[in-house]
Amino acid sequence: METKSEHWPLLTFKEYEKDINPNPTYQRSAVWKPDQKQLLIDSILRKIDIPKLYLRETNTNGFTYEIIDGQQRMRALWEFLLNKYSLSEEAEHVLVGDKLFDIAECTYEQLPSKIKVERIHKYTLDVVIIQQATEDEIADLFYRLNNGTPLKPAEVRNAMPGEMTENIRLLARHKFFSKVTFGNFRYAHDQVAAQMMLLELNGGSSDIPDRLLSKMYADYQKKSPKTSIERMKQILDILDKVFPDKTRLLNRAQSINIYLLMSFISASNKLTKTFYDEFLKWYQSSEAKRLQDTEYKLFMSSAANSRRSIEERFKILLLDYFNSFPSMATIQLDPRRIFDNNQKIQLYERDKHTCQSCKKQVGEFDWHADHVVAWIRGGKTNSQNGQVLCVKCNLKKKDRLW
Ligand SMILES: [Zn+2]
Repeated sequence: METKSEHWPLLTFKEYEKDINPNPTYQRSAVWKPDQKQLLIDSILRKIDIPKLYLRETNTNGFTYEIIDGQQRMRALWEFLLNKYSLSEEAEHVLVGDKLFDIAECTYEQLPSKIKVERIHKYTLDVVIIQQATEDEIADLFYRLNNGTPLKPAEVRNAMPGEMTENIRLLARHKFFSKVTFGNFRYAHDQVAAQMMLLELNGGSSDIPDRLLSKMYADYQKKSPKTSIERMKQILDILDKVFPDKTRLLNRAQSINIYLLMSFISASNKLTKTFYDEFLKWYQSSEAKRLQDTEYKLFMSSAANSRRSIEERFKILLLDYFNSFPSMATIQLDPRRIFDNNQKIQLYERDKHTCQSCKKQVGEFDWHADHVVAWIRGGKTNSQNGQVLCVKCNLKKKDRLW
């Protein structure tokens, strides 16, 4: 890797607009708000120093350069030079020589000529050009340059080179994500797409914190889980068809819920032409009811990314769905999902306060009531199908949902 420093007049950037790739794969999306853009231009007009830009020489996709650091600054600059926004109405006058110039609410074109010439045309920006760098060197440089500003985990993952990064990036651009409630601010779509992928890889049963998402990116750096990717694409296609428009009923947790439910249903049912519309109507009306339910609300809000919350939400949805569409019910689910207090007292006595797996004694509140045959496989919530398991053994018993 070689670097050289240059001073570029600001207008060079306008000339080079088509030559510089502002969105190479490791870059963050544009996140600057209007006042941040205005502040940058205001600084330039007052001859205040602004940080260097890092460009990489490249010959890909028809670009000569790609931006490594300074994406937001460069976009703000381009947009201003193309008259896409104006300066703040509160911008103070700028002093050139002994004369004050009013710049408030000016676009580039509207700036007084003296200001344009003295402060824009004559301004040069320090640019560092990177040559002959490998992908790893660039990723490393990107990390270092961003050391000062805390990157969101999803942004760091997006800068990791590898197969999974590429796949998640594509999946997060699927049309389905234009229907969800949340925007792609700081890679929120990539975040949720990665969570769906991790769940897909684990048959729907997994915690999905950032730590495990990063591990998944690392595990699949050199290979792709092709079946899971293909499957996830199919589910997103179905969901895209179900939701013709953007909806308020798809926040992050709801998107995960609906993904799991659809993954489950479509694996065991052939979807008819009328399915999509019926499903949407069912989801809209039943979700409004579920959101009134204390238990559902709890799993939506507390530890929402834990395996338990995700599974419980999925089970609640699945039961509701099967109740509304009995012909789609591939399993006979017990309407009662969890053991009640009386059943727990009975199980505890019957199993003699002992974990049925490791045979250790457990305290009265230190165990889980476990379904021998999983509820999701049609296991009943009764004493014949119940047993005492210590917390450790219960967490080890990891049932895939499909
Ligand atoms: Zn045990």
